[in-house]
Amino acid sequence: MPCHYIKLADGTVAHIRTSKPRARRCRWCDRPGTQLCDYELVTNMDMASRITCDAPMCKAHTTTIRNLEYCPKHAGAKARARLFRSKQGELF
Ligand SMILES: [Zn+2]
Ligand SMILES: [Zn+2]
Repeated sequence: MPCHYIKLADGTVAHIRTSKPRARRCRWCDRPGTQLCDYELVTNMDMASRITCDAPMCKAHTTTIRNLEYCPKHAGAKARARLFRSKQGELF
């Protein structure tokens, strides 16, 4: 697994899980990507194996829908899906 530790200038040891040595940045701007998109790309019955978008994004680019956070791309998809369902008479 690509897993290693880096020592920062102030002596802190940071555990890096991916091969990228830098902190994640928002995919849509230059701010730090503190949030990850929760949109399910593949929906499995088994919750452990579900695959989410995981796009890194800042607070400004995060849309929270029903306690899940979505990137700008998938927030639109979710909103459309909700509109479609509400047209069918299913209320939340
Ligand atoms: Zn952003
Ligand atoms: Zn997404």
